[in-house]
Amino acid sequence: MSSSTTNSVRPIYLNGEWNDQGPALEVTNPSTGEVFASVSTIDRAGTQQAIADAEAAWEGWRNLTGKERGAYLHAIADGIEKRTDEIGRTISMENGKPLAQGKGEVGMTVDHFRWFAEEAKRSYGRVIPHQMDGKRHLAIRQAVGVVGAIAPWNFPLVLAVRKVAPALAAGCPVLLKPASATPLSSVLLAEAVHEAGLPKGVFQLLVGNAREIGAEMMENPDCRKITFTGSTEVGRDLIRQSADQVKKLSMELGGHAPLIIFDDANLENAVEGALITKFRNGGQSCIASNRIYVQRGIYDSFLEMFVEKASAMKIGDGLEDGVDIGPLIDGAAVDTALTHIEAATQSGARLLCGGKRPEGLGPSFLEATVLADVPEDTLCMKEETFAPVAPVSVFDEEDDVIRRANDTEYGLAAYVFTENLNRAWRVAEALEAGTVGVNDAVPSTSQCPFGGMKQSGLGRELGTEGLDGFLETKHISFGNMD
Ligand code: NAP
Repeated sequence: MSSSTTNSVRPIYLNGEWNDQGPALEVTNPSTGEVFASVSTIDRAGTQQAIADAEAAWEGWRNLTGKERGAYLHAIADGIEKRTDEIGRTISMENGKPLAQGKGEVGMTVDHFRWFAEEAKRSYGRVIPHQMDGKRHLAIRQAVGVVGAIAPWNFPLVLAVRKVAPALAAGCPVLLKPASATPLSSVLLAEAVHEAGLPKGVFQLLVGNAREIGAEMMENPDCRKITFTGSTEVGRDLIRQSADQVKKLSMELGGHAPLIIFDDANLENAVEGALITKFRNGGQSCIASNRIYVQRGIYDSFLEMFVEKASAMKIGDGLEDGVDIGPLIDGAAVDTALTHIEAATQSGARLLCGGKRPEGLGPSFLEATVLADVPEDTLCMKEETFAPVAPVSVFDEEDDVIRRANDTEYGLAAYVFTENLNRAWRVAEALEAGTVGVNDAVPSTSQCPFGGMKQSGLGRELGTEGLDGFLETKHISFGNMD
């Protein structure tokens, strides 16, 4: 059964059933400003019931073999893959991103499910050499228990699945709480889960008030683990709340990625890399380049090429053909970006293109903006702009740019463009970031670990590390071996 057949309000998914009893949450298309769908919600009491149902489902789920759980994950991937166009379109409508990027997000989602379907078979333990005669030691890894997964709106499907897929693979039931701005792609995910026939209670979708749902997840001892992707501010709050029960946490928080371009870089590749890292998803990415440092020898030629290409980017409704940059999530996000732009120009930066809402489009749109000679202490060099705003600054020495790049509380991603192999190694090792792209604007992939240093987070998603956050390690010691 598809959730859409039950009612015009899209239902949530609780304990194997569709539920449309709660007050409806409206979903707005940021391109048009129109409400185009609504989704049912759940309150705190409902969340408590969902945790109890997940807890009841845990034993059966964890006792399946990894191969059996993996088969379910492959079935979910199949269900999503065959609806790529529809799901990509839904992502584009609820988030605003260009359709091609929405479909790309679906492709990556499928790849994550397939990766963790295989990893489910590989949650290896160890046999540990003994130090005393007659003893034998094992370390085994076991599912941590019920997981509360809280996801953001900027990549509404794939970032949810970076939590859901490994939790399921590890043997944990999971409760997904998507962002209120973008719950629809999670409803479609729930449909794929339902179609794949997962046992009831193993995956549930909770849409609703973040504080109520979050508080129940935090305070209910049967919810053993919280995995959160979102702002550092909310992350800090959840970390504080976790103290009472020493709740297990994984945190994927904000970023402020530096992109460093050396004189010896391939200039065309570097410009292309800057365009992708800055303007993909309208700059609303935790790994977006927030500060672009260019060495003096190529500074002017970089700016010339970069501005020419940035100002030629097509801005519009994500569903229109050829659109490069869609709207931001709402008008308030544009207002914040405009504040950052104004602060930069007031402190001496030069506005080379953009800097305003484009004519004839709604309040959520912003032109691709390039700022040059941006001083280091300006707002946009310190705080996430989360918009298509590229602040560019010149540097002379390698040591100095590394110091400036690392001078932030964040440590999620960084990028370096250089053709010098020794420099590439040196700089990549010196940068304080969980991911460094060397001549690579799109470093994230299913099989490599992803996560933040410093205040960008705790733990890693994806890669062989991706299951770690959902497993407990247990030492079993055998004595008296005659
Ligand atoms: P957000 O405001 O922190 O919200 C993220 C999620 O947390 C949403 O589902 C939200 O629900 C929920 N939430 C908000 N307050 C909560 C609370 N008190 N208790 C429990 N849940 C709560 O972040 P966002 O604006 O959606 O996302 C943008 C931020 O995420 C940026 O800082 C970005 O860098 C970061 N991010 C990090 C990564 C990464 O992998 N490191 C990836 C993507 C984004 P509601 O929507 O219902 O409020």
